[in-house]
Amino acid sequence: MTKIFDYLPPESCATGKRVVRNLIRVCVLLSFDFADGESQSARRQDMPARETEAIILKTFPLGEADRLVSFLGRSSGRLRGVASGARRLKNRYGSTLEILSHVQLWYVERETRDLVRIQQCELLESFHRAQSDYGLSTGLALISEISERVLPEQEVAEPMFRLLLLAAREVERRGSWQLPLAYFAFWTVRLGGWLPPLDRCAECGTGLGEHPGFHFSQSPGLLCENCRKPGMRPLSKRGRELAEVFAGKKLDQIELAGDLTKPLSELREVALSWIEFHTERRLQTREFLETT
Ligand SMILES: [Zn+2]
Repeated sequence: MTKIFDYLPPESCATGKRVVRNLIRVCVLLSFDFADGESQSARRQDMPARETEAIILKTFPLGEADRLVSFLGRSSGRLRGVASGARRLKNRYGSTLEILSHVQLWYVERETRDLVRIQQCELLESFHRAQSDYGLSTGLALISEISERVLPEQEVAEPMFRLLLLAAREVERRGSWQLPLAYFAFWTVRLGGWLPPLDRCAECGTGLGEHPGFHFSQSPGLLCENCRKPGMRPLSKRGRELAEVFAGKKLDQIELAGDLTKPLSELREVALSWIEFHTERRLQTREFLETT
């Protein structure tokens, strides 16, 4: 199986300055380590801040002034944290907590709680156009919901991190979510190990050839015309060919020729169905796609 690493962009080079800053931080922390016993015990209560490159997945209001933030940290995995004062008009987070913002984030773990405390957040890359447009933000919302759904907490997920970033960048660059979302959903299924054979019926094994295969969210595979169940939707041969393009190319290198609206939406729908099947729940933002 082809690894997503082959198709995703190389590590962002925007991290150079931070490496220097990190070194300084490490030196400061080390100097504390050699301090006397009294300041050591003081530091143990207030654990040192961790730093990670992160993508903001979602935020919720918390109390009158705070926000609960779900984010995927490149070095921490998915975490939830509290951004104190983030709901106040003047706050130190600015636009860094917008959906799918690419940020550098500092947080403190608290021994007794699941939630981390977010200390500081700096914007690395803004997707302002996509975030402020209703239609585009619907695409971002579904990408965010899928990520929340499939990513376990506190597990580093480098391929998903790169996939998410690529999808958000492409929604912003193209000014449309159709292709990026279909690509994102397809690769989520693939990275999850959920992609069934697309060329034959999962029930009777007949080759699909020129004919469509059928799917819904109660089944993990494609069925043929004879085995299909009521309520199943088609994935045409063109949709399956598009899957091959997705599997072999980086999203930012795909330019679709001609009108591929239908196969694109078919492929997106089949991927969403399988994500729902394997996570055993409906995706709430899926239905909003129809209205954009
Ligand atoms: Zn069959």
